[in-house]
Amino acid sequence: MQQPLIIQGALPVECEYLARQLTHVEKETVGGWVFWKGLYQGFPIIISKTRMGMTNSAAATAIAILKYQPCAIINQGTSGGHDPELNVFDIVLGKAVCNIGAFKTPRRALGEGSDSLTWMEAFDVLPEDETDPEPIAIRHFQADEGLLNAAQQVKSTYTQGKVVEGIIGSADVWNNELDRIAFFRETYGTVTEEMEGASVAQVATQFAVPFLALRVVSNNLTNQQGYDAATGKACQDFVLNVVIEYLQARSS
Ligand code: SAH
Repeated sequence: MQQPLIIQGALPVECEYLARQLTHVEKETVGGWVFWKGLYQGFPIIISKTRMGMTNSAAATAIAILKYQPCAIINQGTSGGHDPELNVFDIVLGKAVCNIGAFKTPRRALGEGSDSLTWMEAFDVLPEDETDPEPIAIRHFQADEGLLNAAQQVKSTYTQGKVVEGIIGSADVWNNELDRIAFFRETYGTVTEEMEGASVAQVATQFAVPFLALRVVSNNLTNQQGYDAATGKACQDFVLNVVIEYLQARSS
């Protein structure tokens, strides 16, 4: 039996179109998570609706890996640009993803307030040394080379915007403070943000399953471009090309 490839989307607008492209579909629900198992151009594919945020996406990933033994996982969907050069409908291939929601803050006394721009210490939630009580480091989860290559190969099939490589930041936060966004861009190197990728990468890494995050820019505060839900379908169309390129290369 060929191992399936898993494509994740958090919201219906990020995965239901994909599920409709499969043939021989069987829908399976595990806890709060839905999986559509089927074929796309003869290859076994599973579409996973992770639901929003870091916890949901981590759980969906762990369930998928243990239940379906995937050959690879692609996390895709919408995101908010950190780079003013990125327009809504542009796609970012995540050469790395990182958690932009884990910090050790400086100490401040009662009444001294809070200022997230002084939160310089990133907390590494997956340290090499598990005895270190305060592992301070920005962890970038690198994309699998084969998946990233496949995405690069089919870049020109995307006509709704440009396709770039960059670092994607994830947290259970929707950032709308431009100074904060600039801080992430400078400190973490992020070009866009969402709420799942780094969490999925953290789980996939520990199971040694090849992983790629790719995100369409659906909104970008840094150049005043508002949210467009139609980006969700554009990203799903593109990811199917990436998957076919990857699986064909793999089976040849
Ligand atoms: N905009 C939608 C709700 C999206 S909620 C609506 O109004 O109906 C957040 C989801 O969108 C998350 O799964 C996250 O990955 C993605 N997302 C898109 N843009 C984002 C941004 N600027 N910041 C954080 N998450 C974003």
